[in-house]
Amino acid sequence: MEERIFVKDKKATFICPDCGFSAVRDVSAFLTIQTKVRIRRTCKKCGRMDSVLLERRRFARKPLSFAGLYWKLKNTEIQGFMTVEDLSRSGVRVMIPVYQPLFPGDLLGIEFRLDRGAQPLIQREAIVRNIHEKSVGLEFLSMEHTDSLGPYLAFL
Ligand SMILES: [Zn+2]
Repeated sequence: MEERIFVKDKKATFICPDCGFSAVRDVSAFLTIQTKVRIRRTCKKCGRMDSVLLERRRFARKPLSFAGLYWKLKNTEIQGFMTVEDLSRSGVRVMIPVYQPLFPGDLLGIEFRLDRGAQPLIQREAIVRNIHEKSVGLEFLSMEHTDSLGPYLAFL
């Protein structure tokens, strides 16, 4: 039977059925369109080749829309309102409604409030990774979330 691999935080852990070697692979590129995708893999240790079915956990994920602010760290004239549309341990995807001269590699400060409890304010520094029109992918500079974001992410 074909092995099924579940994906979390856009990463999949592959374990070779022959030698037990495990590897974590970023599979975000496979996840943009389909919920199920079959990918080929080669074990780096023993060379075994096979294919596995990659499957995202299908839970009803609530669309996010936290209002927030961003500002460019080296040029604070570039700042404004944003909406958080997706959130993970490694970063956020935000919608910036007005055009800004932002580029991959730019460093931003961001803040937004969570939609639970006392709606705690989350502040982070993040690096721009990709831009698709108004949608901007940001990666947190640190994946340590010792504030309210940590427990929030655990129950996403
Ligand atoms: Zn192997």
